[in-house]
Amino acid sequence: MVSFKSIATTTLLSATILAGISASTDAAGKEHQGKALGHAKHAKIAQCKNGQPKNVILMIGDGMGISQLGAYRYYKDNENVPGLDKISFDNYLVGSQLTLSDDPKLNITDSGAAGTALATGVRTFNGAISVDKNKQAVRTVLEDYKAAGRSTGLVATSELTHATPAAFAAHNPSRKDEMDIAKQMARTVKVGKEEQPIVDVMLGGGTDFFQQKDKNGKVTLDLVKQMQDKSGFKYVTSRDEMLKDTNSKRMIGLFAESAMNKHIDRTEKEPSLKEMTDTAIQKLSQNKKGFFLMVEGSQPDWSGHANDLTGMISEISAFDEAYQSAIEYAKKDCNTLVIALADHATGGLSVGTGEKYEFHPKVVDQMKMTHEGLTAKLLEKDADIEALVNENIQIKDITAEEKKAIIDAAKAKDEAKTLAAINKVVDKRANAAWGSKVHTGEEVHVYAFGPGKEKFMGVQHNIQNAENIRSFLK
Ligand SMILES: [Zn+2]
Repeated sequence: MVSFKSIATTTLLSATILAGISASTDAAGKEHQGKALGHAKHAKIAQCKNGQPKNVILMIGDGMGISQLGAYRYYKDNENVPGLDKISFDNYLVGSQLTLSDDPKLNITDSGAAGTALATGVRTFNGAISVDKNKQAVRTVLEDYKAAGRSTGLVATSELTHATPAAFAAHNPSRKDEMDIAKQMARTVKVGKEEQPIVDVMLGGGTDFFQQKDKNGKVTLDLVKQMQDKSGFKYVTSRDEMLKDTNSKRMIGLFAESAMNKHIDRTEKEPSLKEMTDTAIQKLSQNKKGFFLMVEGSQPDWSGHANDLTGMISEISAFDEAYQSAIEYAKKDCNTLVIALADHATGGLSVGTGEKYEFHPKVVDQMKMTHEGLTAKLLEKDADIEALVNENIQIKDITAEEKKAIIDAAKAKDEAKTLAAINKVVDKRANAAWGSKVHTGEEVHVYAFGPGKEKFMGVQHNIQNAENIRSFLK
């Protein structure tokens, strides 16, 4: 738990920053509103070229390293056309970022330190959530944008209290303290004279943390209710409810107790990352002063940890879909900067392995679930193991031996062995391999589109991103 003093300091700083920048945001807001029909076209073009972004959308593909994107490119390739095709990200590549944390023992970052670097511009120890090496809270760009009167949003497919989204709106020396992190994410801050929620739109998983229960399942702390009562949040728990609501300015959408299911394992109740991104933009863009939105594709990382090629590719695909939608919005809006990057790579994916000059990731289309998702299903009580295997692994040349290895491991309730047996079937046909079960230390791509994109060009340290995003408030 962070000391009360450091949080209080954060709030004081907010007021100072607010006073400093209110003039410029007011001007920008009026310009937008006062746009006359006849001059709209010219004014818009000029703004597109020279203006500072009013809105910033930062998209983080957790664990989406360069080789993971390389695998995705092979997966997306139209084989009837010679050569490898472009993927949507290619048009917006501006550089790369180094992903180092500042840990006394470890020189590869975790998502806490990486999230802190991106959110605050401060390098810290692994496991930290926006605190520095002395465990003191450090300001996040989301807090800065809120203090400047802009709206703020967080979208993730993990629980919202997980490391990356947490790093934008909470401060804690331990990413594991998700109960406290939820409280901080539900807090209000003073913006001018008004009491406002620190985050106006939150969409993802995590009822377990926002409606905290005792051992008997009785709700002991209902943060959602507090947010509804204090700040007029609309609360939704399903895709339908979320899509139906077009009026609310503030929304908390919790679609799972903890993390949401992966894209191809989703239930009907769960929206896609694109749908959550579109919804967040629709809400936040009602603020004429602008907004800051962080969208995390949380689970390429988890697929990397699990060495799950099907999960990796389908999660990047879901991220790509959300990315294209954000770019589309930015192209129309003209005042929006979209940055996409990874916080680090995960799994050490090898795009081709052994002695064969081949890589065939399209085999993942013959998987009806991710390897992790299927493993969980196979280990459920009373699972019809054989039926599940036949239904979800539609790889035609799977051998009886391969099937038996999966079924035996599942019957023995051995999670690691079941997952490994499924991985093996897919990796063999794709000719893929994995060099790590955790994060790897290489640089990652950075993509940017919209006013201000020049700041992200070249090779930069991850902490520079926060400084760049902050600079647009000046
Ligand atoms: Zn991460």
